[in-house]
Amino acid sequence: MLGLMQEWPLVCHKIIDFAARQHPHREVVSRSVEGPIVRMTYADIRGRALKIAQLLDREGFEPGDRIATLAWNSGNHLEAWFGIMGMGGVYHTLNPRLFPEQIAWIMNHAADRAIFVDLTFMPLVEKLAAHVPSLRKVIVMTDAAHMPETALENVVAYEEWLKGADGDFVWNDVGEDAACGMCYTSGTTGDPKGVLYSHRSNVIHAMMAAMPDAMGIGSKDVVLPVVPMFHANAWGLGQTCPMIGAKMVMPGGKMDGESIYELLDTEKVTFSAAVPTVWLMLLHYLETTGKMLPHLNKVVIGGAACPRAITEKFEKVYGVEVIHAWGMTEMSPLGSLCTMKPEHAGKSGDALLDIKQKQGSAPFGVEMKITDDDNNELPWDGKTFGRLKVRGPAVASSYYGGAGSEQFDDESWFDTGDVAHIDEFGYMQITDRSKDVIKSGGEWISSIDLENLAVGHPEVAEAAVIGVPHPKWSERPLLIVVAKEGCSPKKDDILAFMKGKIVDWWMPDDVAFVDEIPHTATGKIKKTTLREQFAEYKLAG
Ligand code: AMP
Repeated sequence: MLGLMQEWPLVCHKIIDFAARQHPHREVVSRSVEGPIVRMTYADIRGRALKIAQLLDREGFEPGDRIATLAWNSGNHLEAWFGIMGMGGVYHTLNPRLFPEQIAWIMNHAADRAIFVDLTFMPLVEKLAAHVPSLRKVIVMTDAAHMPETALENVVAYEEWLKGADGDFVWNDVGEDAACGMCYTSGTTGDPKGVLYSHRSNVIHAMMAAMPDAMGIGSKDVVLPVVPMFHANAWGLGQTCPMIGAKMVMPGGKMDGESIYELLDTEKVTFSAAVPTVWLMLLHYLETTGKMLPHLNKVVIGGAACPRAITEKFEKVYGVEVIHAWGMTEMSPLGSLCTMKPEHAGKSGDALLDIKQKQGSAPFGVEMKITDDDNNELPWDGKTFGRLKVRGPAVASSYYGGAGSEQFDDESWFDTGDVAHIDEFGYMQITDRSKDVIKSGGEWISSIDLENLAVGHPEVAEAAVIGVPHPKWSERPLLIVVAKEGCSPKKDDILAFMKGKIVDWWMPDDVAFVDEIPHTATGKIKKTTLREQFAEYKLAG
């Protein structure tokens, strides 16, 4: 027997329709590439998105077409997403931090037909365009006055282009299962893999993100997504904020401590989300200027393990709640958030910080398990670690074009490539990437735990741990350290600092000092390069 309820497809344009109807005056404030702060409302964004959809449709773009964006977080980028989706197309975010050859590879794989581009990235598009034969149109997100000279063909200035439409357009309803967004993962090995979001997965993900024990935000919040729209959908905030009617503050291309502080302060931001590196820059700025954060209530920190020192400073010095979160491009991206359940009521100080080091528990919509290499499920005891597998309505079922099929099993479990343990309350903690875990005498050592511990040393700026071959134990950990400016920490001091905080057999066998640790385009430590760099390294003794 079927239920007698209405069909109401979960499609993304309903989100912007809702925002424009229920929260028409709520602002989306952007720091523009040209300089000035630009203020729009959700009603404006919807109106302009309709024009974009109308123009794309009129110019022969079709449902399912991939339309790239190469842009910072801004109101313009947001309306481009809604316009593309509203025409029935697929917004395809490109990460400008990748090498141009990689971007061209990705665009060709996706067969992008048009691109929305910020002025900053025009030189990049000029380099790329000739190598992407599918590309028919370049829309430069600026006005006629700022339009650069270019030899590219089929280029228009966004504001001039928009003048050609009146917005009298009906969203193209392609159904909730149709693709609406795309993002390639930038793994440290192999070709990038395309994740193809559907309308339904984006809508469900946005609801999931807003829930009280997830991000817990609403229409009274002012949200600053520092995390870029071009990397894992700005953690869903581009859909979550209009869905809940939260004001948005978009940082454009400036993510240094001072620029972020300025927006937090002038726009009275209550909630923000970024990777640890951004928060380190902000905290450094606050420390050197003595400024405080009177408006900010909560920050989500993820993308990489959040060092304990960051959580401690935010919570103790600035009174800002930290939510440690974990996710992946393949998960739209949220997988878990570390907000407190009643079981933790009354915890404070170090006991609370210990929990906040964990990546947290899964919201409704994410199923999790940990297994050994033979797919046997492991207990949730907070100690036993294994391969972390997930499934849910906003988790990829395969990659675009079929690559990486070995990561998906017959029961829809996706092997995240992360290694984790889960405690009895469902709090998951990442201990490593499966390829980075150090296998010593048949047991696993978490490189992330060692790195987190080492960066707690006052003279250490950054640390990475890799396994190096060992005749008896097969692998042992080597700690690689970048010293803080003006400091020259000694190997024995660092090891003494770590001793007693971990079991003895986890202690690194040696410490190597380097000027710089290599990073991927998305800010993750490039362990493959480090392993090559230290390929000839021999442990003493
Ligand atoms: P990406 O798809 O580029 O966002 O990368 C996802 C990967 O980043 C995950 O599989 C993890 O390895 C890592 N990651 C994300 N968040 C965290 C976190 N809070 N702690 C540790 N690793 C994280």
